[in-house]
Amino acid sequence: MSDLPSTARVVIIGGGVVGVSTLYHLALKGWTDCVLLEKNELTAGSTWHAAGNCPNFSTSWAVLNMQRYGLELYRGLAGAVDYPMNYHVTGSLRLAHSLERMREFEKVAGLGRAQGLDLEICTPDDLKAQHPFLETHDLEGGLWDPLDGDIDPAQLTQALAKGARELGATISRFNPCTGVRRDGDEWVVETEKGEIRCEKVVNAAGYYAQRVGEMFRPFGGRTVPMVVMSHQYFLTEEIGELAAWTKENGRKVPLVRDVDVSYYLRQDKAGLNLGPYERNCKAHWITPDDPMPQDFSFQLYPDDLERLEYYIEDAMARVPLLGTAGVGRNINGPIPYAPDGLPLIGPMPGVPNAYEAHCFTFGIAQGGGAGKVMSEWLIDGETEWDMWACDPRRYTGYADHDYCLSKALETYGHEYGMHFPHHEWPAGRDKKLSPVDAKIRAAGGQMGAYNGWERANWFAKPGDDTSEDATQTWNRHGPWEPRIRAEVEAVRDGVGVLDLPGFSRFNLSG
Ligand SMILES: Cc1cc2nc3c(=O)[nH]c(=O)nc-3n(C[C@H](O)[C@H](O)[C@H](O)COP(=O)(O)OP(=O)(O)OC[C@H]3O[C@@H](n4cnc5c(N)ncnc54)[C@H](O)[C@@H]3O)c2cc1C
Repeated sequence: MSDLPSTARVVIIGGGVVGVSTLYHLALKGWTDCVLLEKNELTAGSTWHAAGNCPNFSTSWAVLNMQRYGLELYRGLAGAVDYPMNYHVTGSLRLAHSLERMREFEKVAGLGRAQGLDLEICTPDDLKAQHPFLETHDLEGGLWDPLDGDIDPAQLTQALAKGARELGATISRFNPCTGVRRDGDEWVVETEKGEIRCEKVVNAAGYYAQRVGEMFRPFGGRTVPMVVMSHQYFLTEEIGELAAWTKENGRKVPLVRDVDVSYYLRQDKAGLNLGPYERNCKAHWITPDDPMPQDFSFQLYPDDLERLEYYIEDAMARVPLLGTAGVGRNINGPIPYAPDGLPLIGPMPGVPNAYEAHCFTFGIAQGGGAGKVMSEWLIDGETEWDMWACDPRRYTGYADHDYCLSKALETYGHEYGMHFPHHEWPAGRDKKLSPVDAKIRAAGGQMGAYNGWERANWFAKPGDDTSEDATQTWNRHGPWEPRIRAEVEAVRDGVGVLDLPGFSRFNLSG
């Protein structure tokens, strides 16, 4: 006999950190009549093998909110649910090789201040004081996040699960969701152990989200815009000098993110953990002759250390201690990417009472906040924070497979890249062209992409620097500035015509 309830308010498909956190937050708010389905054991997707790094830092207001909230939750969670776990709040250092990078840090420190966070700008000497093994001679400075750290992702998920169960929520493990159908205003969720009728359903299936999303297609759903990338980190063997320093100082060295080179390096027990976001990155399961397996629970891709060589060498120069250690273990696992690398969390476009909470690239850091956000969508129909940056509805039909693939490769390869206000990323362009596109370009239009549409940001004159490099700056004064000023003055004093594709149009009837 199955102990699966036949009715529930909400059914969550997927028992990674995000699904379980959603269940926990629903239960905290009194919605205990909810069921989570996991096809294997909890954490079997990406969660079990994650490195567990938990930064506050984000240039997105929505993501900063999720991470800030999550880290606060995690600091009290072991006590709140009586489930001890390994959570090391070591602090972290972001390194800046340029003044432009320092300006990014100043911007995020300002965002952090507005959310009550104390992110500190550092000089090279400050960096050295925090991390004695770091080479700092060629750096401009950095950013110190005192609340960054690393958590055991499986223990975190189990702690959230314990909290949810004790409040009365149900977790059904080894029970795949096999389909969904509508019956009047209700969903009927089909599983291997029986059916559940419910009001609302959440796709929290991690890197399987596109497959689960297909179940919603007959009810107005679309192909989930995502790609599965491979992401690696490797662990070294124990380093005597690091072990001795930790013993003497009673703490681990802080996590280091060399964002201009594109890797993080942190202490793991008495060894080091190095995780790059490499430019020569790799997507998986992207062609019909290489489909995603029906089940990949607790599995990894083969090691691919060659892809990491450049980053390993760079990190050995930054923290020479790394060069003294033998390679221990390599982890190469699936990680889902939406085109912009931000999660899809919110209402499922076009489908009544269905929601999405997946495509998390930093799901361990964001899981706590994601649970809060999702529970608000489900219970209140709106969220406390502005979550548009992560709203699934930000992608419409233009986000086809080619677009998703080219953007995912670009986004992963520039995971730590700076997002300058006048810079337009080159991948996935020309998806939608206005009828006067050719005329606009002939007139010198410098194009940007808005919801798939190409729109002129400004009009260049012969001799203007229209290179991508010229836009890699926080400065307001680029080659565009005099041209935009002239346009604004022309429209102020005379008349002008604008072609503005990329805005929403509503057809209203009745
Ligand atoms: C090598 C590596 C290192 C990482 N390091 C970090 C890090 O340091 N910090 C960080 O924040 N993030 C990190 N991540 C990312 C992190 O692992 C993910 O963002 C996070 O685990 C996503 O959680 P999730 O709950 O969305 O998905 P998942 O953990 O993938 O969970 C989805 C679950 O859905 C289940 N499922 C699928 N289909 C069905 C179905 N039909 N029925 C029932 N259940 C189903 C799956 O079995 C799975 O358990 C790392 C990822 C990788 C690959």
